[in-house]
Formats: sequence, structure tokens, C-alpha cells
Amino acid sequence: MAASSIAELQALLSRGKEVLRPVGAGHSFTPLVTGGAHILRLDQLDTPLVLDLCEGRARVNANAPLHQLSEALGQEGQAFRNLGDINVQSLAGAMSTATHGTGRTLPCISAEMTGAKLLNGNGEVIEVSTEDLPGVQVSLGLLGVLLEIELNTVPAFNLRRRVGVRSFDQLLESMHEKWLAHRCYEFFLLPHSGKGIGISHDITEALPDKPPLDLDALGLGVMKLASKLRRFHPGIQKRLLSLMLKLQGEEDFTGESWRVLSSTRAMRFNEMEYHLPPENAAGVLKEIAQLIETRHSDVWFPIEVRQTAGDSAWLSPFQHGPRVSIAVHMHAAQQYEGFFRDCEALFRTAGGRPHWGKLHGLTRKDLEELYPDLGRFDALRARMDPKDRFLSPELARIFHP
Ligand SMILES: Cc1cc2nc3c(=O)[nH]c(=O)nc-3n(C[C@H](O)[C@H](O)[C@H](O)COP(=O)(O)OP(=O)(O)OC[C@H]3O[C@@H](n4cnc5c(N)ncnc54)[C@H](O)[C@@H]3O)c2cc1C
Repeated sequence: MAASSIAELQALLSRGKEVLRPVGAGHSFTPLVTGGAHILRLDQLDTPLVLDLCEGRARVNANAPLHQLSEALGQEGQAFRNLGDINVQSLAGAMSTATHGTGRTLPCISAEMTGAKLLNGNGEVIEVSTEDLPGVQVSLGLLGVLLEIELNTVPAFNLRRRVGVRSFDQLLESMHEKWLAHRCYEFFLLPHSGKGIGISHDITEALPDKPPLDLDALGLGVMKLASKLRRFHPGIQKRLLSLMLKLQGEEDFTGESWRVLSSTRAMRFNEMEYHLPPENAAGVLKEIAQLIETRHSDVWFPIEVRQTAGDSAWLSPFQHGPRVSIAVHMHAAQQYEGFFRDCEALFRTAGGRPHWGKLHGLTRKDLEELYPDLGRFDALRARMDPKDRFLSPELARIFHP
């Protein structure tokens, strides 16, 4: 249901015992918003995009999409410090699962939250206290409905984006240097090609150029076709990928930070992402490449590798970080379970923590080992939502010990 006022949400909380689940853009791969009696859409609440702004701080509508907030902040000369691959998520949705971009010194978006207005399970609208903030920063919609969020901002800036094709070995050998050298750096490994694409973003005083054509969807189409042709001969797949990478060439352009960092993702896929101690990333990537060659030759979607700085949120996968994130994907029409299960075993052995919004198979017991502050979060949840009005059966498997 689409809530049009806080009073309407309070009325819903005051009667019955039904479970309510807040939703942002519904872009999580895990069943975070399903399983209750009502999914609460919050984009119709009558809240301005930007409520207050001073240097380095903004209070904004928690339920607005990141791209709208980026544009509104930009008009005031401010910006998000960093963003992920897409910007259609709501701010509350993105923060609730520790959504991240890439950059050795840049934390996930949740760590930028400095305050919030929340409707808790008792129907009270409260200002989150400093003590509770690390619990609320990453909270999966389990503490109530975020209404307003106060966050750190930075002066608006332009980024120079450079994209280049490199060999698998070069990308692995140079990744830590690249993270030291660039504000934002990430790379994609293209299965069966022996190659990948490195992407750096650095602050520049230069003015925006005309953005190049977005050929990502076309590239994915070629990778899909190449994988299909593999059944005739694996060499065909390799040759087609090699031709595609030759045509890719080098890219170099400048634009406003939020327009350059995020793009659209046209193809549907399933994804698992784990955040690992940086020193373990290269070994795991080599093992995943080996897995693809030997057991999962149908995997063709690129593997994405990023780094995020540490923070102190209780449920943040980056708590006491930094962490290198490795994301594996499979096309929505493919069976992903076997490949993801094999990758998950490698991620876990390497000390990884899963992205809350992406597929994983962890139980309460596993998560207790990974999150030393899980008990503090439980205590906060018991205070904020004593009647479990935001606890779906799926989430109760983890958060109702
Ligand atoms: C194509 C694609 C690209 C992606 N790229 C990245 C990326 O680059 N980096 C990354 O880290 N992740 C990425 N993700 C994952 C995505 O950012 C997260 O799953 C994010 O949580 C989705 O935001 P959403 O607005 O869709 O939230 P939803 O999926 O709708 O909800 C996420 C959580 O937020 C809670 N929630 C939503 N609104 C509120 C509210 N007002 N109050 C309290 N709780 C609330 C929900 O209950 C739920 O627990 C990507 C996902 C997709 C599909």
C-alpha cells in the first residue's frame, strides 16, 4: 500500500498485529520486503526532497530516490560523497542494506547518516539518538519507517572517468596500487576472455564533456551470445569476446559526480556479493576464475570488484573494514544456485561478509560469528519494535533468536 501521511501509518500500527514491511525501489535480491501483510510504499508521503542544508550536512526525504536527491543537492552546490552502480534506490532503502560504491577511503552510504527521524513500532515519531545511530544506519527496515535522514554531503564535484581493457593478471596485480592512486577504482573480469575492464574516477576542475554512448547493454548482449556459441566450440566464445574488447577501446570523459558514478542496468540478473578482507581478494578471484573454467562454464556475466572504507555501524559488512567486495552475477534466466554456492564457500573461507541486499545462504549462527554487535542490534530492535510489527517470517529466522 502507498502511505500518504504519517498519521495513516500510525493508524495502521495502532490496530491489528499485522507485519508491515517498508519498501524503497524494491531493488534488493533478498526477500527483505516480502512476507508481511502489507508492503509500505513511502514515495507518496508529502515531504520535500531537501528539508535543511548547511555546509557539509543535509536533512532530506528518506524515501526519495538517490537520483532525485543528487539533482536537488547539486542545485544547492552539494553532492553525495559516493554512489553505487545505479541511483534509482531510495536513500532509506540504500542505507538500510549498506549500499556502497568504490574507493579505498570512501565508506558505504549508510556511514554518511548522521541523524534520522523514524516512526518506530510503537507508532512514535522519534529523532534517533547518537547512541542508537550505529544501529539505525544499517537496519533492514526492522526498527521502523525512516522518514527523514540527515547525512554528510560534500561540495558538488566533477569526476574524470577512465576506462581501459587489461589482462586478468594485470588487473589482479595492480588492484591495490590502483585503489591507492584513484579516488574511485573498480574492475570487471570477463569470464572466458582472460581479460577485464578497469574503471577509475578522479576529481577534476574540468567541465563536463558530452558523455559517450552507453554500450553496456550491447556488451552484455554480445557476452550472452558468445556464451551460447560456446556449445559449438569454446574458441568461438573467446574470439568473439576478444573482438568485443578490441572495439571497446579506451574511454575518457568528465561529468558531474552523480551522473558519472551511476548508470542504468537494462538486463535482469541474480547477484551474490561478499565483502572480504582486502588481502584475501586476489586469491579468491583466481579460485572463482578456475571454478568458471572447470565447473561452471555457463557463467558469462562480468565479476565486479570494488573496495569500501570501514565504518562503525553494528550491522555494516564494512564494520572495522576496509573490505574488497566481489560480486558474481548470473542472467535471470539461468540457474545460479550451484555457482553461487561454490563461490559462497570461497567467500566464507576468506572471511567475507555478505551484502544484506544480495543473495546469500547464511543463518543466524553464521551471522553471529560475523557481527559482534548483532546482540546490540537485537536489543535496539526489541526497544524500537517490541511487538515485532516489522519482522517478517523470513527475517525472523535471523533476527528472532
Ligand atoms: C541493478 C542493481 C544494481 C545494484 N547496484 C548496487 C551497488 O552498486 N552497490 C550496492 O551496494 N548495492 C547495489 N545494489 C543493491 C541495492 O543497492 C540494495 O539492495 C538496496 O537496498 C536497494 O534499495 P531499494 O531502495 O530498492 O530498497 P528495497 O530493496 O526496497 O529495500 C531494502 C531495505 O530497506 C528497507 N527500507 C526501505 N525503505 C525504508 C524506510 N523508509 N524505512 C526503513 N526501512 C526501509 C526495506 O525494508 C529493506 O529491508 C544493486 C541492486 C540492483 C538491482
